[in-house]
Amino acid sequence: MAAALDRLHAQSSRGGDGVGAVLGVSAFLYTASSLVVRGGLLALDTVLPSASPAAIPIEAVVACFLLDLISGIWHSTLDLSDMGERLRSIVPDSTEAALRVRATDPRYLTANFWQQFVWSFKSHHTAPYPAHDNQERELAVVVMPLLFLTLVQWYVGWLQPRATRVWCVVLGLGSFTQTSHFLAHRRVHLGRASLPPCVGFLQDIHFLLHPSVHRPHHETFDCNFCIWNGWANPIVNRLIRLSMHLGIADGKHIFPGNPYKRSSER
Ligand SMILES: [Zn+2]
Ligand SMILES: [Zn+2]
Repeated sequence: MAAALDRLHAQSSRGGDGVGAVLGVSAFLYTASSLVVRGGLLALDTVLPSASPAAIPIEAVVACFLLDLISGIWHSTLDLSDMGERLRSIVPDSTEAALRVRATDPRYLTANFWQQFVWSFKSHHTAPYPAHDNQERELAVVVMPLLFLTLVQWYVGWLQPRATRVWCVVLGLGSFTQTSHFLAHRRVHLGRASLPPCVGFLQDIHFLLHPSVHRPHHETFDCNFCIWNGWANPIVNRLIRLSMHLGIADGKHIFPGNPYKRSSER
């Protein structure tokens, strides 16, 4: 274990393509959080039988928590990934500027695919609204095959009905994870009245991401990574601090780093 941590730390310290750091952070977060989720589902099995009708809304709540947890793991893993010094020096202040960099800047155009992907993701920090890409379509490319595989596993008997229902809700909503995130940004930039009333209400009761929950992320970029509703932030924040303490994650990859702050997001 210690040797593996040393290796991961050495990889992230060299500042290469960051693949070692990505694998280290995501494996650590996935293992830790899956234990939490597994424990939660076992506890649910104990107190509420799977066949009970009352279980359905509770399973939906568990699925929303799980989706938020996954969003935090994925988001933090990308935010803690290295994209190289050349791309790190490019700090766009608007969506137009970010798109211009992607179309014309030689530093971007000569970077490898992974570095481009990480930069495009992190450029949201300084150019938060509107979205730079079609987020729903990008997520659907990943989520829909997983939903299909989940149904196949249920069909052949590898997955229990309760786990199938929970994962189907997670993956059914999964394509819209960034939608909740950008609706929170929309409220900051265009006001609550610009949202459908039900969305504003769901944000107010924290069933969707509320701007006040996401704001700390845009102040320091090293906390509150969860973007569905923020329920899992306490877990992910602690895991991130622990992974930094253990040397698995490296805070130097936080982009654009303190003390940069975007006044409109405060
Ligand atoms: Zn971020
Ligand atoms: Zn954001």
